[in-house]
Amino acid sequence: MSTVRETTTEPTTEAPPVEIRGLHKSFGELEVLKGIDTTVQRGEVVCVIGPSGSGKSTLLRCVNLLEQPTSGQVFIDGEDITDPDCDIDHVRARLGMVFQQFNLFPHLSALENCMLAQRTVLKRSAQEARATAQANLDKVGLGDRGDSHPAKLSGGQQQRVAIARALSMDPELMLFDEPTSALDPELVGDVLAVMRQLATEGMTMMVVTHEMAFAREVADRVIFMDGGVIVEEGPPAQVIGAPQHERTRTFLQRVLDPTNTRAGAEDAAHAARHADEEG
Ligand code: ADP
Ligand code: MG
Repeated sequence: MSTVRETTTEPTTEAPPVEIRGLHKSFGELEVLKGIDTTVQRGEVVCVIGPSGSGKSTLLRCVNLLEQPTSGQVFIDGEDITDPDCDIDHVRARLGMVFQQFNLFPHLSALENCMLAQRTVLKRSAQEARATAQANLDKVGLGDRGDSHPAKLSGGQQQRVAIARALSMDPELMLFDEPTSALDPELVGDVLAVMRQLATEGMTMMVVTHEMAFAREVADRVIFMDGGVIVEEGPPAQVIGAPQHERTRTFLQRVLDPTNTRAGAEDAAHAARHADEEG
């Protein structure tokens, strides 16, 4: 077990949940993140917006080390996860991640999907894992669907199971990468409602989204990324309501265009482009 946590008297130290310093990430010749610096405070909801290919997913994936940064540092609760001595599995257990594709195990029921990592990673008893899974399915409005397999659930329901699964690990931070982009428009609302509820309860969240209405209403801070840098960040009323940079204005005009008012249209196009990445 990690000595770090055992010698710390209180898990919620003064350190912020996420601190990113000088983060660079390249894939071969392609530099995708060109120096990202930002800090997420406890209880803060940060929405990351920006055009496709701007590096949003790569940023989130560096936060839980699904991608290894090329340079720079990422601190989770003050712990440098880019340090080779860091016990990343231990850190990851505190991070919930929800992807565009739900990544549920098709052969397991909703309840079993929510129990699995509790059993294998947190070593919880079956009884405790089941109770926690059930409580979180209740929370996302699917308390009566625990026995259903993913194929029997709508996309929106599957995504809510994926959220319940992440919550069942009692995460200190939730990362969402376009959680509603693969959904039919009429199913988006239920998922956003669950996320809004989590935000209200004080969960720390980083959310990559094209849902500008959600970002406006729920985010404490909006980060606009383009070309691997943070172009601007601030309260939603500022970044979405009165953007300072031309690149932000151009992006928002495209997303909020009257002929494209449903953010779902942009999302659907995006989902179609990325459909082949599934699985
Ligand atoms: P966004 O989420 O903003 O659409 P991404 O972070 O997914 O952007 O991707 C940014 C750029 O990095 C894109 O050009 C993408 O093709 C590239 N990229 C992402 N992941 C990889 C990878 N594993 N290997 C090579 N290139 C990648
Ligand atoms: Mg992405």
